[in-house]
Formats: sequence, structure tokens, C-alpha cells
Amino acid sequence: MQPVPYFAFRDFPAGLEMQVQQALLAAVAGKQYVLGPQVQAFENEFAAYIGGGAVVGVGNGYDALVIALKASGVGAGDEVIVPVNTFIATINAVLQVGAKPVLAEPDIYTYNLTAESTAKHITPKTKAVIAVHLYGQVCAMEPLQQLAQESNLLLLEDAAQAHGATYKDQFAGSLGHGAAFSFYPTKNLGALGDAGAVVTPDAAKADFARKYRNYGEAQKYNSEQIGINSRLDELQAAVLRVKLQQLQAMNAERQRLAQVYLRELKQVGDFILPFSAPDCGHVYHIFNIRTKHRGQLQAWLREQGIATAIHYPVPVHLQQAYATLGYKQGDFPVAEELANTSLSLPLFPGLTAAEQERVITAIKAFFRDSL
Ligand SMILES: *Cc1c(COP(=O)(O)O)cnc(C)c1O
Repeated sequence: MQPVPYFAFRDFPAGLEMQVQQALLAAVAGKQYVLGPQVQAFENEFAAYIGGGAVVGVGNGYDALVIALKASGVGAGDEVIVPVNTFIATINAVLQVGAKPVLAEPDIYTYNLTAESTAKHITPKTKAVIAVHLYGQVCAMEPLQQLAQESNLLLLEDAAQAHGATYKDQFAGSLGHGAAFSFYPTKNLGALGDAGAVVTPDAAKADFARKYRNYGEAQKYNSEQIGINSRLDELQAAVLRVKLQQLQAMNAERQRLAQVYLRELKQVGDFILPFSAPDCGHVYHIFNIRTKHRGQLQAWLREQGIATAIHYPVPVHLQQAYATLGYKQGDFPVAEELANTSLSLPLFPGLTAAEQERVITAIKAFFRDSL
């Protein structure tokens, strides 16, 4: 039997690959390879899609986080509250600007940062909070917006997993003072290489970001501020423009596949399935389940050619690289529990019904025959 991949690039919706190739050829023929018309057009189109902000295309999601923090004036001496169960990019970006990441527990049901958990860590030095819309589900934003306002904090979004996800009909990326997107190839909106974007409703922040990504230049050889080179690549922008047209369709397919898992895996073994909080839209960048038998189940699936992944096996506070932050085992029981029990199942646009059926059948067989 053919293996079932955890993720694969498939031509979904049919014809997308051809459209992407045509757009690439046209961009090559256009011969404006850096900050050309494709970048400009993508920025406008993504801004129109999200609503309520300007988009600045940058080199990757990590740079988008760094630039969003810098544009917000976060730096040395500041504390930034971040969820402990995120991809390390979120933490590293805070360190990169010279600020201190202060880790906070996620909610046990949604796995997202909450206002309640954030509030426990506010000190006079707290400057910002980064809401990570983990696995594609938007954080409960209203309480966070309220807390940010009351405590005079900047509310930033790490929307790298949540392109097109909504909170009360507003898109992720439009819910705070600034947001970072990654267009890493496997994200819900993915380029054919590295790419990212900063989104902000604040014209001054957008202006800073636009200059900062390009050596601080307002015009060529006129540097108004210090900057770096983190420009969104013209060819990637051409790809993203095509794929943006299909983002709703690709997310709808992810949601449909998720509903099949949710229906079929209900009450299977000790599974804890993804929980959708009221108002918090989910675009299933990752379909995460939890089970005490994670290791055995993953091995069982692997034997049958079914690939899975773990997001994330070691929480940030227990990673060697962050020992200097001074945390220890037991500091974040929820995150530690998640790290020990989480398993991500194959889910991507183009996963076939037969493949998904095999995953479901194998999981049911594991709990029936193998425990
Ligand atoms: C992917 C991702 C990033 C980083 O994006 P890159 O483009 O790989 O730099 C940041 N935060 C989260 C939550 C991510 O999933």
C-alpha cells in the first residue's frame, strides 16, 4: 500500500499548480526581480483580503515577527508575554530585539494563550503580548484586547498558522496592533520558498517596516533609519497572489477534512480532539489530537506507512537553548502535558478520502487490537 504522507504538495484545487507555474513564468519575463509589481500587488491584495491594515512583505515569518516588534518600539528592558507552547520563532524574535520573553501557560482546551494566563505575568516592564493562533485557531481576542487596553500593552499576533482564520468575522492579522505571517511552503498560504509579511493598522508602523526591510531606505541610497535586507521576493509574491485566490477554498477543504476526523474519531480510545471555542475560527493548519498512548500509536501508524508529526515535543522552557530564561520542569504543567500527549494527523488540501479512511481505520484498530 502507498504510504500516507503527513503533508504533501498536491494540485488542490485542480489546476492550481499550472496557474502558479504560469504566474512564475510571467514574473520571470517581467524582469523586475526585487520589490517589483508582484510584491506591490500581493501586498495590496492581502491587505484587502484581511481588511483593516497595511501589508509589508518580508523575507520570512521570523523576520515579520522581529520587524513587527521593532516597529512597535519593543527592545532592551522590555518584557514580552508569549505562550510557552509555540514554535521557537516567536521566542527568538523577542530575544532578537533585546527584550525578554516571559512565558505563559496556554488554555487546556484550545491550547491558546488567554487573557487570564497573560494577566498573571504582567509587570511594570511588560510592553507587549504575542497572541499565537496555534494550529490555526484564533485566540479568544476580545479579552486579550481588553487586557491590552487596560494595562497599556501592545497586542501582537503571530498569525503564521492562521491565514484566513476568523474571530467574530474578523480575520487573524487584523485583531491587534500588528501581526506577523509566514508563507513557509507548508503553511495554509504557502510560497515556494521563504516568505512572510507584517500587517498593521498603524501607518507609522507600516512605514517603519517598509523601510526597515530594505536597509531603511525611503528612496534608493537615502537611508532614513537603520534597516536590514528582508524583502519579500518578487517570484514568491507572484506565487502568493495566485494561491491567495484559493485560500478560502484550501481552508474550506482543511475544515471539511477536520470534520471527518472529528466525526470518525469521537470516542475512540482516550482521544482528546481539537476543541473549537465560540467565536474562534479554526483553519486546521494542524489537526492535533491528544492521547496517553502517543508513542505507541505513532509507531503503530508508522508501521502501516502513515506519517504523523508532533507539535511540539519539547516545550520552550525545557529546551536547552533557553536554559538562561531560568525555567524548570513543572513550571508549565499544561504545556508539558501537551508536549507529552499531542500527535498531529495527516491533513492538507488534496489528502484523498481513501488516505484519510486509512488513517481512521488504523487508529481504530490500534485501540481495538493493539493495547
Ligand atoms: C512557521 C512559524 C513561524 C516562522 O515562520 P518562518 O517563515 O519559518 O520564519 C513563526 N511562528 C509560528 C507559530 C510558526 O508556525
